[in-house]
Amino acid sequence: MAVIKRRVKKTDLSHLTSGVKQLAAQELLSEARRKGISTVPLDIERLIKSFGIKVKIVPMDDEVSGHLSLSDGVWEIAVNALHHPKRQRFTLAHELGHYVLHRWQCQRFEDTKLFRNNESNPMEVQANDYAANLLMPEVEFKEYIRTVSKNIDSIADHFKVSAYAVRVRAKNLGFGGHGL
Ligand SMILES: [Zn+2]
Repeated sequence: MAVIKRRVKKTDLSHLTSGVKQLAAQELLSEARRKGISTVPLDIERLIKSFGIKVKIVPMDDEVSGHLSLSDGVWEIAVNALHHPKRQRFTLAHELGHYVLHRWQCQRFEDTKLFRNNESNPMEVQANDYAANLLMPEVEFKEYIRTVSKNIDSIADHFKVSAYAVRVRAKNLGFGGHGL
């Protein structure tokens, strides 16, 4: 769930839009490769920092996953240090998704639980989808299942994401059943 605060007009941010344009997740991964950043598993923290975004890993209340915010002209992504590292990675990717897709629309995105049933906020759905595409690129994901393992824990370890994130991604890519 996101609480959106301080709605601003698009034009108010026009001077702050340098850096990444609205890039599809695949283009962002190509850019990471060009910068020599590992993509599987994705070095998400390094990728975020390469765009001049500050990363803070700090203890937060348990229900808070993290946030993306603009302060004094600098974008910052913060994640909850008390959460599992795999969950932190998904949060980082989710916030980067907000940055790439939605930063024109507001200056602060506050995220609590990222995976909720019946998520209806389109920006949250898009940020989750973006994160899944960054951390589990379709081609590599399918290739791993085809050539290495169909085991969910094995896939989760390979991409350094939670088993739950793997299940959601697999379902969205058309894999059915309890296993893969
Ligand atoms: Zn969000």
